[in-house]
Amino acid sequence: MALTGKKIWLDGEMMDWDKAKVHVLTHALHYGTGYFEGIRCYALEDGRSAVFRLDEHVRRLFDSGKILGFPLPRSFEEIKKAILDVVRANGLKECYIRPIAFVGLGEMGLYAPDNPIHIAIAAWSWGAYLGDDGIKNGIRAKVSSYTRHHVNVMMTKSKVSGNYINSVLAKSEVKNAGYDEAIMLDPDGYVAEASGENIFIARGRRIKTTPLTSILAGITRDSVVELARDKGYEVVEERFTRDELYTADEAFFTGTAAELTPIREVDNRKVGERCPGPATHELQSAFFDIIKGKDKKYSRWLAYV
Ligand SMILES: *Cc1c(COP(=O)(O)O)cnc(C)c1O
Repeated sequence: MALTGKKIWLDGEMMDWDKAKVHVLTHALHYGTGYFEGIRCYALEDGRSAVFRLDEHVRRLFDSGKILGFPLPRSFEEIKKAILDVVRANGLKECYIRPIAFVGLGEMGLYAPDNPIHIAIAAWSWGAYLGDDGIKNGIRAKVSSYTRHHVNVMMTKSKVSGNYINSVLAKSEVKNAGYDEAIMLDPDGYVAEASGENIFIARGRRIKTTPLTSILAGITRDSVVELARDKGYEVVEERFTRDELYTADEAFFTGTAAELTPIREVDNRKVGERCPGPATHELQSAFFDIIKGKDKKYSRWLAYV
């Protein structure tokens, strides 16, 4: 079923959903010269709605443009306001928000410094990315045969459209083989991340996640690292291997779309004794309390709509 909604913000104008179109010779459509964000807005228990870590997402959007050399021709405050406006204009209490900046119509060659840079912002209802059962009982992951980007082949800190072919290949490969999500190894063979999520493992109260070197610096990852440390877990950012993943007590993915999803199985091996394990369960429920506005200690992460 095609995605639908009421309004989309495009280049400063709030327009009807169906009117937000681009030309087929848009540069980004041919070469992947776009960059985007994935943001979530949650309904709070007091009836309000709030966007989770809005400033950090907008900052990363600007950073992506800077890394690529296609800076966003808009101000930080304007983008922030437009995101909140889109949520309101669509009348959504809870939604996924997708800002995307892209190189538009002009020169068709690869070097097109004078082409316009457009930005669109859309929002829609999107439930658990890896399924409600996945969030509750964990998912089955498989290590993909596709390697994650080398840091000097693609810019891994930028959420650039072109990067996602690597993710699409990996995700399709494992989905077609009957698994839920792909885990990708870096060019040295260490665990990097999933197709659109960061990865954590736990042994007792010691938690490990991959260092930022070759991965997308997830905002959910950052939130969970801080949260786990606040709860007294030891958290280390260190490379780890595929066999360490097999022998972990617990493993989970983090991401705006996937939120905090437990990993039940890797390469047909059961992870730990039960899923979700105690650390995953504690962090997951603490995370859900924060996004629902139930834990005032982290209310600085919420931008009210
Ligand atoms: C977006 C993304 C993540 C998760 O980042 P969040 O800020 O937590 O949403 C992780 N890995 C990749 C490759 C991503 O694109």
